[in-house]
Amino acid sequence: MKCPCNPTELYKNCCQKAHKNIYSVSSAEQLMRSRYSAFVLADIKYLHKSHHSSTRLSKKEYKELEKWTKSVKWINLEIVNASEKNVAFKAYFMENGVIDTIIEDSNFCLENNYWVYLNAK
Ligand SMILES: [Zn+2]
Repeated sequence: MKCPCNPTELYKNCCQKAHKNIYSVSSAEQLMRSRYSAFVLADIKYLHKSHHSSTRLSKKEYKELEKWTKSVKWINLEIVNASEKNVAFKAYFMENGVIDTIIEDSNFCLENNYWVYLNAK
């Protein structure tokens, strides 16, 4: 299986490593990619784990997120710019037959010795 975040990589050589062991993630970009792949795979546990504890969603919000991410068809991820603690990206998906994009400038940091998503600018 190809990795959702990058069609030139196999999932097992890419985001699966992060999904199995979040401590293996060594950069903000890698964490961002693994979160995109978790959206595609509807891995809500990983989305929760890779989210900073101060900005995590509520149980109800995660339920809604799971429902939503399963209802759309993810197309691809485009990393626009990545620095040490910030990743600008575009995520393309199809919802109700219409292509839509999430354009975000996200901040990441370390919490409990692993990379997490903090917030968006
Ligand atoms: Zn990947």
